[in-house]
Amino acid sequence: MAKINYNYRKLKQDYLFGEIAKRTTAFSNANPDNEIIKLGIGDTTLPLTETVVAGLKDAVEAMGTDEGYRGYGVQKGQGELRKAVAQYYKKTTGVSIDPDEVFISDGAKSDTANIQGIFAADSVIAVQDPVYPVYVDTAVLSGKTGENNDGNYDGIIYMPCGPEHGFFPEVLSVHVDIIYLCSPNNPTGTVASFEQLQSFVEYALKNNAIIIFDSAYSFFIQDDSVPRSIYEIERADECTIEISSFSKWAGFTGVRLGWTIVPKKLQTEDSKPGELNAMWERRQSTMFNGASNIIQAGGLAVLSDKGVEESNALAQYYMKNTHVIRAGLENIGIETYGGEHAPYIWLKVPEGFDSWSFFDELLNKVSVVGTPGEGFGSQGKGYFRLSGFNHLEKVQEAMKRIQANFDFRK
Ligand SMILES: *Cc1c(COP(=O)(O)O)cnc(C)c1O
Repeated sequence: MAKINYNYRKLKQDYLFGEIAKRTTAFSNANPDNEIIKLGIGDTTLPLTETVVAGLKDAVEAMGTDEGYRGYGVQKGQGELRKAVAQYYKKTTGVSIDPDEVFISDGAKSDTANIQGIFAADSVIAVQDPVYPVYVDTAVLSGKTGENNDGNYDGIIYMPCGPEHGFFPEVLSVHVDIIYLCSPNNPTGTVASFEQLQSFVEYALKNNAIIIFDSAYSFFIQDDSVPRSIYEIERADECTIEISSFSKWAGFTGVRLGWTIVPKKLQTEDSKPGELNAMWERRQSTMFNGASNIIQAGGLAVLSDKGVEESNALAQYYMKNTHVIRAGLENIGIETYGGEHAPYIWLKVPEGFDSWSFFDELLNKVSVVGTPGEGFGSQGKGYFRLSGFNHLEKVQEAMKRIQANFDFRK
């Protein structure tokens, strides 16, 4: 008799975005003339750049010709694109990566989830709290956790991220097997320092742990004062898999393309040299037939000189929005974090509010929608996320309304 995977029943309902949608729709139905401005979005809003569109078009045209038609490709991605990713790392971080260590995928979300599969099923997982929910939910579905108690799953180690250390966790004092780190961070918009990443690399080497580093927002980093890649830390290639994405940088959220770096030097206590790299290749060729060749041409266009320039301009546009949000909030006495190297502002809700009552206040008084921090973990209680992913005019209008209606200065 077939049975379901009971781990699905352990999963918490996706309460956060469902509840936001419910409250927003109710408000909109009751106030049909109010224009709602959404600053809760974790999705890009600007169109693809000229260079990317040309790259995609050329690839489509080629597919319609005898000479240019291509069927299945190499599962780990086209050699030219893997080389371009490696060159991009060299240019922006000085880090040397062998193109054979680069695996092209249909995005970072699936890779951050699937990567758990090359490690032992009983691996203990540690995550930042607040956290991008994918890492946790995947651990639940693959049976690595117990039940959910008050928002946290038994068996997962939550590393609290509060204002004391710039919303990056202190290095662990207990043993874990796999550590997810995300910097620049979603949801807090903050970024880890060289010292902070180094402390985790040292921990991982000492404890035979593996770090899964999500760098999907690295393209928003403004200067060399903070690491763009964890491989800028010495010996990180012995203990870290880095996962990144074209999504937020080049507007590929709906196009779908990302990459994962599995260094040949990566080691667990029981692996042979190069084995983890070969295992991920095996996993991808067994369960994935490669990213679309048309979309890979788009990725190659992003990584061309002109493509990089245009994509960076998209990122700068969202960063400008983020600065408008932060300045507006600070004018009315709200404490803000992040937003310097990431398109998110993490704010402390004013006294007298919790995350959800502040959500209601913004919605009801100024028709602005944000994201309650507690939706990302128990340490998000009392915080709130606003996002720079929108059109500048809308962001300016939202901040005008907020500043005209609120003043929390003491
Ligand atoms: C948006 C985002 C990604 C990107 O996911 P894709 O599947 O590449 O679109 C990855 N990690 C985090 C933390 C994100 O916010």
